[in-house]
Amino acid sequence: MASTVRIYPRAEHCISRSQISENALKVLVRLKKADFEAYLVGGCVRDLLLGREPKDFDVATNASPEQVKQIFRNCRIIGRRFRLAHVFFGREIIEVATFRGSEADESDQQVVHEDGRLLRDNVFGTLEEDVWRRDFTVNALYYNIRDFSVVDYTGGMQDHAAGVLRLIGDPQVRYREDPVRMLRAVRFAVKLGFTLHLDTEKPIHDQAELLKSIPAARLYDEMLKLFLSGYGLQTFELLRHFGLFAILFPTADRCLETQDHDFPRLFLVRALENSDKRFAEGKSLTPYFLLAAVLWEPLRMVAQKRIRQGENETLAYQNAANEVLSAQIKITAMPRHITQAMRDVWFLQNKFTRTVGSRPYRLLEQAKFRAAYDFLQLRAETGGADPELVGWWTRFQEADDDLRQKMTAPPKDSAGKPRRKTGRYHPRSRQASQE
Ligand code: ATP
Ligand code: MG
Repeated sequence: MASTVRIYPRAEHCISRSQISENALKVLVRLKKADFEAYLVGGCVRDLLLGREPKDFDVATNASPEQVKQIFRNCRIIGRRFRLAHVFFGREIIEVATFRGSEADESDQQVVHEDGRLLRDNVFGTLEEDVWRRDFTVNALYYNIRDFSVVDYTGGMQDHAAGVLRLIGDPQVRYREDPVRMLRAVRFAVKLGFTLHLDTEKPIHDQAELLKSIPAARLYDEMLKLFLSGYGLQTFELLRHFGLFAILFPTADRCLETQDHDFPRLFLVRALENSDKRFAEGKSLTPYFLLAAVLWEPLRMVAQKRIRQGENETLAYQNAANEVLSAQIKITAMPRHITQAMRDVWFLQNKFTRTVGSRPYRLLEQAKFRAAYDFLQLRAETGGADPELVGWWTRFQEADDDLRQKMTAPPKDSAGKPRRKTGRYHPRSRQASQE
């Protein structure tokens, strides 16, 4: 591809060495001293230009992974699809990638699937070739350690200044090569507050289906980045807009299509809002809570059908969970500890209605009690459970032993005798009344 390069000298950009991780600088300087080219590239350059702290630092070089390994003792070569060197500094990993070439040579180093997907791509090349393999123009800026300039072949600096996310090359071809780029487009547009260039945006809706060819483990990783990086709600809205959410969570999307007065959408919106808020406060985020929320409505639908067919509630929910989860892991492979935690949160929901006798005490001791209680609260806030029930559990947690005993005492009948059957809370919410 014909290309003109623009070099932005140090005086024409805002990236200063003081913002760059010391370890990344070490890697760059050592490569330079060994007479190799060395650049920062990708998200770190993009984020530094915005004055933001990068998530991680990626280095590009003309040294092969083996040559990198010779320079750094603390280095491991990883990957098959893209062979890379990881240089370890305690918990920080600096990823060092050798420039990729643009043309496949006689060897089998580049493998293209018949549907156009790039399966293996280990042809090494020059910076000028490497540029065109990157996804967006703003991700293809190279910070040169030799003179601290930024090297730009694709107009990324102008796009960056204009807040535009533009795919390099022909978008249809680039999405076919790697459909995950559609998810990345959404993720970066939201995270950076950039607009998608029209040509980059246009093919997404029609090509969304291509994501079905992506291995479930990779989609799970991408999905976590989409929802747990602090912009979950906006990301969700944009994914739905492009029909991408329907590919990631088909059962949940179908429920949203049949929504009634903003329900169950509002529940999901609140769950995402909460987790974005937690992220902003620097609190930890676990995937299972959000995933449990996303798949809650599909779970309920299946469970209700089973109840109508005569199954008891507990069994219906267990079978529904199996059904919903086994369909979902084919798309986004979730680790077992995550699906187990989701089940725990789900199954505890029905148990909250039992507020008499020893059951509430046992519930309180469950490992996932707190998450399940938060989940219940979220349901109550959005019309899916009785707020009075949440109030009961809030009081029960705060109560001393005496009050707890009173709260869990069996209700008395009109003659003042305790009723024989253990009482059961009767929620009045819409959702509960369907059950
Ligand atoms: P962040 O790390 O903030 O999520 P990033 O842009 O650094 O964003 P990475 O996944 O770390 O994203 O990738 C680093 C760089 O590698 C990208 O900026 C891009 O240049 C290139 N890259 C990553 N994934 C792809 C892809 N699927 N197709 C083309 N280029 C890619
Ligand atoms: Mg990165």
